[in-house]
Amino acid sequence: MPSADPKSVKVHLTSGEGVEIDWKDGHLSTYRFPYLRDACPCALCDEERATSGRGPGQPVASKPGELPMFKPKVQPISVEPVGKYAMKFNWNDGHQLGIYSWQWLREICPCEVCTGQRRDEVKTKLG
Ligand SMILES: [Zn+2]
Ligand SMILES: [Zn+2]
Repeated sequence: MPSADPKSVKVHLTSGEGVEIDWKDGHLSTYRFPYLRDACPCALCDEERATSGRGPGQPVASKPGELPMFKPKVQPISVEPVGKYAMKFNWNDGHQLGIYSWQWLREICPCEVCTGQRRDEVKTKLG
């Protein structure tokens, strides 16, 4: 089990880039804000992902024949810490239910190493 203890957390709110977490075990995770929004761990988003078969962080697919609509860039208006174990985003689309625990953030790390590991795990589960 990888460590879910951050050494430092940087939220690039003004530049709108995303979040950078330096873990105690030396791993570095960088998340773009739209990725985090699509990986929102709240019950509502969790249910939506389960019904649409979308993985955490995977963008919502547009329906066939649907014209790409203009969507404002997803960005948090503010970020607040939740105890010592999580943080919470106040997104510019009004959503603010997700509590992003360090554990969850480590699980959804979008780097090549972690995505590769998760793919292997799925393979093992399927046999
Ligand atoms: Zn949510
Ligand atoms: Zn990683």
